Amino acid sequence: MSSIIQLLPDHVANQIAAGEVVQRPASVVKELLENAVDAKATDIKLIIKDAGKSLIQVIDNGVGMSVTDARLCFERHATSKIRQAEDLFSLHTKGFRGEALASIAAIAHVEMKTKQDQEELGTHLIIEGSKFVSQEVAVLPKGTSFAVKNLFYNIPARRNFLKSDIVEYRHVIDEFQRVALAHPNIHFTFYHNGSEMFNLPQSNFRQRIVAIFSGKTNEKLVPVQEETELVEIQGFVSKPEFAKKNRGEQFFFVNDRYIKSGYLHHAVMAAYDGILKDGAQPSYFLFLSVPPHTIDINIHPTKTEIKFDDEQALYAILRAAIKHSLGQFNVAPILDFDRDATLDTPYHYKDLEGVIPTVQVDANFNPFAETQPTKSYSGSGSNYKKTEIASSWEGLYVGLKQETETFSASSNFSFENEEVTSSLFDLEDAEPTIHRTYQIHKKYIVSPIKSGMVIVDQQRAHQRVLYEQFLVNMTVHQASSQQLLFPLNLYFSKNEMELIAELQLSLMNTGFVFEETQKDHVVISGIPVNITESEVSLVLEQLLSDLQDGIPESSFSQNDTIAKSMAKSLAVKTGSYLTEKEQENLVNGLFACKEPNVSPFQKPTFITMRVEDIDKKFAL
Ligand code: ADP
Ligand code: MG
Repeated sequence: MSSIIQLLPDHVANQIAAGEVVQRPASVVKELLENAVDAKATDIKLIIKDAGKSLIQVIDNGVGMSVTDARLCFERHATSKIRQAEDLFSLHTKGFRGEALASIAAIAHVEMKTKQDQEELGTHLIIEGSKFVSQEVAVLPKGTSFAVKNLFYNIPARRNFLKSDIVEYRHVIDEFQRVALAHPNIHFTFYHNGSEMFNLPQSNFRQRIVAIFSGKTNEKLVPVQEETELVEIQGFVSKPEFAKKNRGEQFFFVNDRYIKSGYLHHAVMAAYDGILKDGAQPSYFLFLSVPPHTIDINIHPTKTEIKFDDEQALYAILRAAIKHSLGQFNVAPILDFDRDATLDTPYHYKDLEGVIPTVQVDANFNPFAETQPTKSYSGSGSNYKKTEIASSWEGLYVGLKQETETFSASSNFSFENEEVTSSLFDLEDAEPTIHRTYQIHKKYIVSPIKSGMVIVDQQRAHQRVLYEQFLVNMTVHQASSQQLLFPLNLYFSKNEMELIAELQLSLMNTGFVFEETQKDHVVISGIPVNITESEVSLVLEQLLSDLQDGIPESSFSQNDTIAKSMAKSLAVKTGSYLTEKEQENLVNGLFACKEPNVSPFQKPTFITMRVEDIDKKFAL
């Protein structure tokens, strides 16, 4: 039998390797920026067009390459960074595989210009799909410029696989920020489609963080510092009150390299134990220095994961260091050994449920009206309708129809409305009150219906009610706004500002009025009627976090995403006490919905129990 095994031609091997190294424009950005850092540049420019799909250019003032190296660098396994296997254990550079440039050149049009400081002339080289097109001697400044055009031009399947510009651009920003944060001593500039997005002068860590994540970040940060034999930790964490809804501002750098580590993240969260609201995420920017031989960065092709020799010790040190910082800056309760134990709350007190005082107000009462009007919250066309919310409970349920008769015909519920014929406890003179709803465990609302009873999940039900209400406001009616006496200034990072700009129109449809949109903040002068002023930043943060993976393209799904996100933030939560009136409004509102059965996230909102089922239980 004849032999059939052949060696793959280089350009094919390179294309295959490229699949691992280059997933999207952001991967090229990462490799080129890291090469520039390794080349000891002090000034690095990143220029991209169309989220990097048409052009990614990185210009550095680093050491440059000789004529021979300029050619060699595109060969696979061509690297100046390791010479022998042992070097892997003492790495101080980002690259070492010698794969990136070969891979990139296999799947794009690449133009490189490079000159070493001591040379008169440099090299100008063009390579397309692994083929050298031209190589010339040229007059050039010191350093290297790589221009990568038309990524995946020869692999249409990969090109088609790329996401929208918005999504790809976000990935590029992520990579840029990671490298820029790790190297505050390098001046970085970043241009997208001709506009300057970032200009980060040489600075220290703290200034770099602030330059990237808006001026407001400064007051949020608490420094962390720890030095042990195993690790040196430096950096910043956010005070708990500035915790965010999303994990956008969490960074670990190990030996100046951005890494992901669920384990170390857990250590940070453990340090915040008990001082964060549920689901809140602290920001952190932590730089760990460890002896290179104690880590293995080689376990993942894109090198964002890392293995430490002594993970457990690292966990403990990190947790303690952050706890200490939070304590020092008075943001965490400090142990007080001189505490007088007699002043402590007796044990059984903590098991007692707090009773929240409630005020019952008839929100429909209008002393000037002859007959009581039915309220409409859906907006009457005026953009600036002053809020009519008159009481606290109603704030929760605005938009719910007040009348019980408005049960949608589609739902098969009719509430029991019979007279109480005999009272179990015959109290003289006592008003016969009919409780039609009961809240149990601050979680469910139980109510009798003809066939038995219904048990409503309060949080999901309210999500459904709010969701439909927002959708109607956004798509059918013009939403009403409540005008703020004092406009709100809300600060966001550059990325978040971009997202807000994208969404501005849809947000205006919900009732937001943007007075100004600046580089790092928005001025909001009107908000939807069903939001209170203090909820605004929460709602927007939740929304931004829900849009981490990109903004939906169609305006319909944009509205849907916004409505879902706002419903999620604003819905009354499990654990909240509801007055009877609130319970009733909620149940009524739910069954007036188009799709009362499920929450906007497709979870059941209620269950029913028939009398026969209950009878059966008693028949045992
Ligand atoms: P690696 O970074 O893993 O060594 P690359 O394919 O990214 O592999 O780069 C190959 C080699 O090309 C590098 O080792 C380096 O010697 C050289 N090189 C790449 N980019 C630059 C640059 N911007 N300035 C100077 N030399 C560079
Ligand atoms: Mg490299």
